[in-house]
Amino acid sequence: MKFGGTSVADLERIRRVARLVNAEVQAGHQVAVVVSAMAGKTNELVAWTDGSGAAAQGLAASDDEYDVVVASGEQVSAGLLAMTLRNMGTPARSWMGWQIPIIADDSHGRARIDEIQPEKLGAAMDAGEVAVIAGFQGVTRDGRIATLGRGGSDTSAVAIAAALGCGCDIYTDVDGVYTTDPRIESKARKLAKISYEEMLEMASLGAKVLQTRSVELAMAYGVPVRVLSSFVEPGEAPGQGTIVCDEEEIVEKRIVSGVAYSRDEAKISLFGLPDHPGVSSTIFGALADANVNVDMIVQSKARTADTANMEFTVGKRDAQRAVDIVRSVQPSVGFEDVQVNDDVAKVSVIGVGMRSHTGVAKSMFQALADKGVNIQVISTSEIKISVLIDAAYTELAVRALHAAYGLDQL
Ligand code: ASP
Ligand code: MG
Repeated sequence: MKFGGTSVADLERIRRVARLVNAEVQAGHQVAVVVSAMAGKTNELVAWTDGSGAAAQGLAASDDEYDVVVASGEQVSAGLLAMTLRNMGTPARSWMGWQIPIIADDSHGRARIDEIQPEKLGAAMDAGEVAVIAGFQGVTRDGRIATLGRGGSDTSAVAIAAALGCGCDIYTDVDGVYTTDPRIESKARKLAKISYEEMLEMASLGAKVLQTRSVELAMAYGVPVRVLSSFVEPGEAPGQGTIVCDEEEIVEKRIVSGVAYSRDEAKISLFGLPDHPGVSSTIFGALADANVNVDMIVQSKARTADTANMEFTVGKRDAQRAVDIVRSVQPSVGFEDVQVNDDVAKVSVIGVGMRSHTGVAKSMFQALADKGVNIQVISTSEIKISVLIDAAYTELAVRALHAAYGLDQL
């Protein structure tokens, strides 16, 4: 069982989580619980590290001491939940990442789990104790705390489930995965099931319900995942939530399953690039060396002979750094101009049905055209189409696409 920040936001909610855990224990199950920090805590901790001057030196996201600070929120909620369970008469103890251990690599701030050694944990659970695990954190081979990136408790939970060989129920503040963000489109529908692949695209394209890495892991290890609401009492109809599973397990076929969006985008445009081999390699090599994550990339021939134009997108926070890096290779590459626009949003439609159906792109472009939304960049994969548009049209585009694919009447 995994509980997110809003589910453990205060002591009353922690007591409700304890009741849900107890109900599983009463039903005869062994339980491992992964918890996030109390809502807002991690943001506060991150702000403190920024305030300490680390950000000014470009350290905040990569420093081992950053991880020491931001991992502490989960320690608090794990301890509080274990205490609450004990007060209810249920044997429980908390586990920090290093105590299990959850071994992670040393890319601080966005570490990957290398390995989990679940023997001690399993033995304690066999002895009848609920294991309350601090999410978001692991330990490097040389004994330092490492965090798994924002939203990383989902990944902790799926990884623990994979190590223990069980399923993973993610309890959160929504009762499942929706066709789109219900705050934007009130007609959004809860999906009974979604495939790993679609969930992976939804998560990486902006749906915040699960961390992308956790879905990758679930898919790789075949961990059955359910997304459920934590705002219920044991015994109350919890609803079925959404099951994330293999495509083959989904009988009801649809062409498009969801519409996702992200406002965390910036577009960088390069004009007048020389059109010869090695140019892209130099530019994206420099960006990769600086750990800038690039998303959409388009290049096209310019009207003037022997030159090309190129546009790519990065996260908003990386925009200025990306421009600086591109400028630093300008003398060797020799382009004319670089511009940045961070008033853009990416809207995507996702569905495994695209593999076998034609006309999905046509419907998307038609729906956007009907609303007068201009498309700046398009990118596709086998099961998704993304467009970059003016950020002001995000809601309009999401609603138009949701309707265009009939997602309100699934
Ligand atoms: N507390 C961490 C965060 O806010 C990890 C998580 O909640 O999953 O990003
Ligand atoms: Mg989360």
